[in-house]
Amino acid sequence: MEPLTDSFGREIKSLRVSVTDKCNFRCTYCMPAEGLEWLPKNEILTFEEIHRLVRVMARMGVSEIRLTGGEPLVRRDLPELVRMLAGTRGVEDLSLTTNGVLLDRLAGPLVAAGLRRINVSLDSLSHVKFAEITRRDALDRVLAGLEEAERYPELRPIKVNCVAVKGFTETEVPALADLARRKPYVVRFIEFMPLDADQAWEDDKVLTGAEVRAIIEERWPLVEIPAKPSSTARRFRFADGAGEIGFVNPVSEPFCSTCDRIRMTAEGRLRTCLFSRREWDLKAPLRAGATDAEVAVLIRNAINQKELKHRINEPGFVRASRSMSQIGG
Ligand code: SAM
Ligand code: SF4
Repeated sequence: MEPLTDSFGREIKSLRVSVTDKCNFRCTYCMPAEGLEWLPKNEILTFEEIHRLVRVMARMGVSEIRLTGGEPLVRRDLPELVRMLAGTRGVEDLSLTTNGVLLDRLAGPLVAAGLRRINVSLDSLSHVKFAEITRRDALDRVLAGLEEAERYPELRPIKVNCVAVKGFTETEVPALADLARRKPYVVRFIEFMPLDADQAWEDDKVLTGAEVRAIIEERWPLVEIPAKPSSTARRFRFADGAGEIGFVNPVSEPFCSTCDRIRMTAEGRLRTCLFSRREWDLKAPLRAGATDAEVAVLIRNAINQKELKHRINEPGFVRASRSMSQIGG
């Protein structure tokens, strides 16, 4: 099948699949403390439906699949979905983003099902600050989840993601950087984006990658490692060779021109940008009996209208129609 290319010539290779809108954390930069309604169960794509959409997209050249949410590990029987997707022709890279709180139980079954890469979110190594940002006292369980993941050498790299929020993260940076030196984890700092349900984001709450880097370099000089052009992260190693740090800088250094990603929400809506105002429903046609060829036409049409770039830094920026946990980050 012809590759999936948007109207600006970007070839789409990567799909993030949200498997649930539910979450057992309430991170302040993502969800409200309470009051978010969950989707009814029958609105959520079944594993068979996800598998079918992935098969269609894989035939169109999408080779990287990342499972996310909400919190993907709260979806019952997730290893079964991993098994189905890992065996799909064309899927070369299958990964998962998780808050890690259920990972101590699930790392083994996920690896056995074929998972080979994992990102674990971790914003602080202080119990007090971890509870402040996630609104849950669960640091020890996340660390236990990471330890469990480490036991499986086939699950590499283990990436640890920290959302960098000004006024909160500065004090957390040294301990998180030290984690990258002590453990086989790539620790990555992600700039806070206007995708929080509380709508508290302001541009002066973004702690930029350059600012985090300066904090790290007060102790440990860093050396840049060349990255793939489509990579969202700038990669660095410690000059003394101890480990790896990454910076994902969507606000201060947008990477839209090389974006090869699309997203599918838990209820089967295709989103061509994190900041899309428009979504493309694939579930309804699927449930109405559309053929694979018909679904492929719908996908191609959506990709054709993929946004040129996000406009976070422009006057009149309009927030996305949903917050991060409902999109699938
Ligand atoms: N619950 C899982 C987790 O937290 O890893 C997966 C879903 S979460 C929405 C995916 C990623 O989005 C996490 O790394 C999270 O830190 C990040 N994220 C959430 N809200 C964000 C925001 N407003 N700006 C930047 N990153 C955000
Ligand atoms: Fe849940 Fe992940 Fe959002 Fe935190 S970032 S509230 S863990 S979905």
